[in-house]
Amino acid sequence: MEQIVIVGGGLAGHRAAEALRKAGFGGAVVLVGDETHRPYDRPPLSKQLLAGSMTADETLYRVSADANVTWTLGQAAVSLDRDRQVVRLADGTEVPYDGLMITTGRRARSWPELPELEGFHVLRSLDDAAGFREAVSSTSRVVIVGAGFIGCEVAATLRGLGVTEVAVVDIAPFPMPVLGAEVGKRAITLHEQNGVRFFLSTSVSGFAGQGGRVSGVDLADGRSLPADVVLLALGSAPNTEWLEGSGLELLDGAVLCDEHCVAVGTSNIVAAGDVAAWPHPQAGRPICIEHWAIARDMAATAATNLLADPGGRASFATVPTFWSDQYSVKMKSAGLLAVADRFEVVEEDTEKPSLVVEAFRGQELIGAIVFNKNKAIIGYQRALAGQLAGAR
Ligand SMILES: Cc1cc2nc3c(=O)[nH]c(=O)nc-3n(C[C@H](O)[C@H](O)[C@H](O)COP(=O)(O)OP(=O)(O)OC[C@H]3O[C@@H](n4cnc5c(N)ncnc54)[C@H](O)[C@@H]3O)c2cc1C
Repeated sequence: MEQIVIVGGGLAGHRAAEALRKAGFGGAVVLVGDETHRPYDRPPLSKQLLAGSMTADETLYRVSADANVTWTLGQAAVSLDRDRQVVRLADGTEVPYDGLMITTGRRARSWPELPELEGFHVLRSLDDAAGFREAVSSTSRVVIVGAGFIGCEVAATLRGLGVTEVAVVDIAPFPMPVLGAEVGKRAITLHEQNGVRFFLSTSVSGFAGQGGRVSGVDLADGRSLPADVVLLALGSAPNTEWLEGSGLELLDGAVLCDEHCVAVGTSNIVAAGDVAAWPHPQAGRPICIEHWAIARDMAATAATNLLADPGGRASFATVPTFWSDQYSVKMKSAGLLAVADRFEVVEEDTEKPSLVVEAFRGQELIGAIVFNKNKAIIGYQRALAGQLAGAR
């Protein structure tokens, strides 16, 4: 291979470039990214960056000069021609490749048919974060639609910033539903103790506006919440429109890969990170796992597999891990919680607070969640990794 093109300049793209060099690839590495920024870390956007304890510059990944990457930033890939092995960019340039790495991640979902009012925000990129931070700096009433991780983290950070009225709305009965009801109940208590109001098991029926700005959120149960700023934290969708017509197989919009991170039906295209669906051994089907550590590790495996002969490729099988910071609580999880059908509290100290919850599928321990229990989660991670290795 003489030239490898990486499309998508986030965590997975950055790690992919480094891994190619680490594996000894001496050809050209071209990284195409639609953002103008060099690759940066997204988790601080809802935490330290929003809180003001980190600058945008500090979120940028340090890229060693040895990586020798040709950067094509501020340019989206708009199509892929697999017969000619070229990626076409928005300005019409064609970038040829011998090997292609797809790391285009996901974007924040917006609200369908959003009224033309100012005051709506999403949080996925550095630019989103700058706009949102500016908006909340002069407001006292924020409604967050969506009680997933980003919604909950932002609620916590806003209260830390002194925003007086922070309300979170979700159709689910608990925040962060993938963590189960036991964690969900405790998360409600944690946020309510810190002044956040939850409106759960209800949906948004519409938005009110005044003078061209959003002024409130109407709920399906008849209540109305005043708002100066609304954060839409509604999950994400894969950035794969540019692959339409390429013949690559997609699953719910994500690039369908085999266990080696190779795009199904190809031999010189791999995908990694949030954009990839792959067969995790415990899932029994291809899934997307939108965790920072998955993007980091999958990019390294995908890069080395792209360089390897088909017979020498390694499987990507790992215990998913995740963290979230809310107030003084460091939440961490290990395991494939999406397939759990039962959650059990095994240890709790409401004063600290600390918590250990185990997640099961039938009788099988499938994962664990902790609050402020770092050592415990490392233990679960090791046990689950042993289980995974034994099953292969
Ligand atoms: C606010 C926030 C907080 C988070 N907090 C946590 C956390 O606490 N813990 C955790 O485990 N995970 C967290 N995550 C998730 C984690 O950041 C992601 O899993 C990780 O960033 C995925 O990396 P990626 O490289 O796959 O995608 P991304 O980081 O999204 O990078 C993809 C890049 O590709 C670009 N791109 C898209 N389409 C094109 C195109 N056509 N052409 C060129 N470029 C394109 C995108 O603009 C982007 O720059 C958080 C995410 C967000 C948004």
